[in-house]
Parts: sequence; C-alpha cells; structure tokens
Amino acid sequence: MGKWTDVATWRGPTENEGPALTTHRGLVLHIAQGYYEGTIAWQKNPDANVSSHFVIGKNEGECAQIVDTDRQAWTQRAGNSSWMSSENAGFVPDALTAWQIEANARIFAKGHLVYGWPLVVANNPTERGLGHHSMDREGIDAEWGHDDCPGSNIIKQKQAIVDRAIQIVNGESDDMEQTEKLINDTGSSNRTVGNVLADVENLRNWLVSTPGTSTLGTPPPGSVGAIMLESAQKPPVNAAELWAIMREDTEWRLALAGDIAALINRSSMTVSLTGSMSGSAVPTT
Ligand SMILES: [Zn+2]
Repeated sequence: MGKWTDVATWRGPTENEGPALTTHRGLVLHIAQGYYEGTIAWQKNPDANVSSHFVIGKNEGECAQIVDTDRQAWTQRAGNSSWMSSENAGFVPDALTAWQIEANARIFAKGHLVYGWPLVVANNPTERGLGHHSMDREGIDAEWGHDDCPGSNIIKQKQAIVDRAIQIVNGESDDMEQTEKLINDTGSSNRTVGNVLADVENLRNWLVSTPGTSTLGTPPPGSVGAIMLESAQKPPVNAAELWAIMREDTEWRLALAGDIAALINRSSMTVSLTGSMSGSAVPTT
C-alpha cells in the first residue's frame, strides 16, 4: 500500500506508470515547467506518457500523489526503477516556495521511515538520498533526460529540504497524533511531546528518591515503564539515553506516553507541566 495520504492528497491513478520499483534509492526533485492543476491533468492523460509520484504546487496544501509509491513513475527514464519523484510547479529558474520545501521534506522524511532513504543530499544516480533530475550528467553513464531540470536555484535548496526532514523525523515539530495521545492518556490538556523528556527525567528521579517504589506494580517486560523502574535501581539508563531511543522510533514514543500515563495512574502522583512531581507511591488500584 503506497498511498501516502498523511503527506499528500491522492489524485491518482494514472495509466502512466510502470511495474514495482526494483530498489528505493530516494527522491528526485523536478520542476514541472507548468502549473499545479495543469501538471496533474497532464500526468493523467494517457497520451502524455509521463507521471511523477507527487506533484507539489506553490501554495500551502497543494501536494498531490499520482502514482503509488510501490510503482514506477515515468519521469526520469533509467532512474525510474530505483527513484521516486516529485514534480514541483513552476518554471526554470524558479526556486521552491517555503511550502514546496516543506512538502518535499514531509515526503522525504516519510520515505526515510518507509524505505530507509538516508537523510542526505545525493548528487549522483549511484548514491541514495535526495537527488535531482539533472544529476545523471555527473553520474554514471545514465541518461535521465532534461538536463536543465530542476535548475540551479532548486538544487541549492536540497540541503534545506534534508535539514527540515531531519527535524520532522526527530519529532521536532508538532505531531498531532502523539500530542493527542499524551493529552488523552494523562488527562491533561496542556501536554506536548516536548514535555516528555522532562517527564522521563523527573519520573526516574522520583522513583530513585521515593521509598516504596515497588508498590507501583510491575509494568510489562520491555515496556518503557519497566526500563524506567529498572533504571531507578540500576543507573545509568538516563533520560538522555531514553530520549535517543525515542527519537528513533515513533511507536516507541507512543508507548512511552502510554507507560508514563499508566505509571501515573498506578500511583497518586501528579505531574505538572513544568515537570515537578509530588505524591506517594501508594497504588490507587
Ligand atoms: Zn525533471
């Protein structure tokens, strides 16, 4: 299933697509030499014989997916079998708008999570990461066509897209799903993912300093709660290390939010937004 509806609006399908990709090296940037809706319409026209996985307009919210990410789009010839693609509305020598940088970064960050694309700039078809159409010239004996695509101004913006994708992957942006879960699980309306680090550190310190820790009960083996309880008795698992793991894995972050909520529910402990804690370890159930 390769419809990325969390980062784009599905506007496919099109007949202009090939078989499954043989490998996933990354994302190739293009400039459409056209406008947003016109490019989408053209890619859906069987006579055009062209397509891209994504079409990104200049205005916020304009991000369409035309081809399933598991299928080959027809946009860079020999590169179609191993690279995905985004067509960005505009004409050479346009630079990407702020929205186009953001939309490409979201796609690139998701490709990192789904296909393992490295979060780096690629400048050669033999590399992996964020590429651009005309990089075939500097690379192996490849002919991807369109030597002026996407133009030097967009090529200069590749690092900015990579930097933003790294931020997204590291959770340094609002993440509605996680924030929602934290609010639901803790019953507090003003919690955000950014407070979790303080929670971990303070909860651990509280476990260390408070007698009767064991009456909190036994969290499931391997859960974050178990790790925190263990670390309370046996440093050096600390907040920074936990945070490093959390940054790697969204599922893990969600589990941590749930475990913190469970530990709070099993005690009379209260947690304030500033991270200070009070209460006792007497279980409420
Ligand atoms: Zn191109």
